[in-house]
Amino acid sequence: MQKKVYERPVIKSLNSGITNKFGTRTEYAPLSHIDGVAVKDLIKKYGSPLFVFSEQTIRKNYRNAFRAFTTRYPKVQFAWSYKTNYLNAVCNIFHQEGSWAEVVSGFEMDKALYNKVPGNRIIFNGPDKTEQDLLKAIHLDSLIHIDHLDELYLLNELAERIDKKPRVAIRVNMDTGVIPLWDRFGFNYETGQAWDAINKIMSNNQLNLTGLHAHIGTYMLSTQAYAVATFKLADLALGVKKKYNRNLTYLDLGGGFASKNTLKGAYLPGSDTVPDISEYAEAICSTLLNVGFAPEDLPYLYLETGRALIDDAGYLIGTVIANKRLSDGRRATILDFGVNIMFTAFWYNHKISPAQEFGPYTEDCVLYGPLCMNIDVVRESVTLPPLNRGDHVVVHHMGAYNITQSMQFISLRPAVVLIDTDGKTHLIRERETLADILHNEKTPEYLVNFEI
Ligand SMILES: *Cc1c(COP(=O)(O)O)cnc(C)c1O
Repeated sequence: MQKKVYERPVIKSLNSGITNKFGTRTEYAPLSHIDGVAVKDLIKKYGSPLFVFSEQTIRKNYRNAFRAFTTRYPKVQFAWSYKTNYLNAVCNIFHQEGSWAEVVSGFEMDKALYNKVPGNRIIFNGPDKTEQDLLKAIHLDSLIHIDHLDELYLLNELAERIDKKPRVAIRVNMDTGVIPLWDRFGFNYETGQAWDAINKIMSNNQLNLTGLHAHIGTYMLSTQAYAVATFKLADLALGVKKKYNRNLTYLDLGGGFASKNTLKGAYLPGSDTVPDISEYAEAICSTLLNVGFAPEDLPYLYLETGRALIDDAGYLIGTVIANKRLSDGRRATILDFGVNIMFTAFWYNHKISPAQEFGPYTEDCVLYGPLCMNIDVVRESVTLPPLNRGDHVVVHHMGAYNITQSMQFISLRPAVVLIDTDGKTHLIRERETLADILHNEKTPEYLVNFEI
């Protein structure tokens, strides 16, 4: 074996601005305007931080997804997943586009009713439906998706008591080849649980089995998993036809299509790796058309897509509070928004753009929120130009789950603004104040006064 030639090690400084291992420049270009409205003006008018939603993007996402399905399959209905974002203004844009409501609690159902969604256009999912919720859903003729046998038995009892035959579906979970298996919701396909539930409903004749439901997971990157889920739901529906001579009205394939957000640990950005909505549509629709339904018996296809329709329509804009050096030499920038309003920061490396022009110099830095908690990290490592106190930044892909899962913690929750399709801004939720917090608090009389 020939001796290898010795090469002297070299130490080279990484000059930002020229090509380095992070690329030739900062990760992102500046984003000074959202739908034509200056970030600076938004903050001046509504304060910082601020959630901003683009009506144009919401409508575009909906129409694009709806077209992807309706051009491939004749009977399609979307239902907006309330828990993904239940701001009334956001829900109503989806309802104006034709979406029904998909809710997973009594509270969400009340919100859909408040928004004037007809009861028979509400899909009621979830493992926690109280007796009161179920009675209300029966009276409203909502579609009740049964999660477990206890719910099935209770529903049987209630329906008998008030002499009604509510429309129901069962939620089915199955092996779609994706790990982890979501088998905690609904009845399992492979073990025969699903058939057991169907038989119990059909033989008891107190409930009107109208559909079958599956929601196989969230941020699903595999379109094949949807083909498998569709096949297994359809197999049950064809079995019902064969055994009970009954056509089910619909198959509900749930939601879970990935948004273009980037998961932590992903090598490439979500915009490069996430399937297009038309690829999900292709997997589901071709399976449905091929699986063996007679043309006149084709069921409706219901979809409860959440994050894929709203994530990129939501932004969080904010302001730099300070910069400092950590003991290891890294640059740290402190922003005025933290993980209490960025729940998804635990899963995603959110794309963050400076909102003003910047020079060629960049540096790897860590972005912290304002909370007095070590976990308050907005980005662990991101290449950005040096930001000064008072500069603004824009966080992308914030539309899904951040509004509904945010909490006031140390600081109160920010206002939310909608930019309409004419570029006009509308305040759709006020900034929280102390009065909002005090509203529900009660201090016992003997604790009111003190001297210190
Ligand atoms: C959360 C949820 C959805 C929406 O999921 P996304 O991942 O946001 O698309 C749809 N259906 C059910 C039953 C859900 O629980």
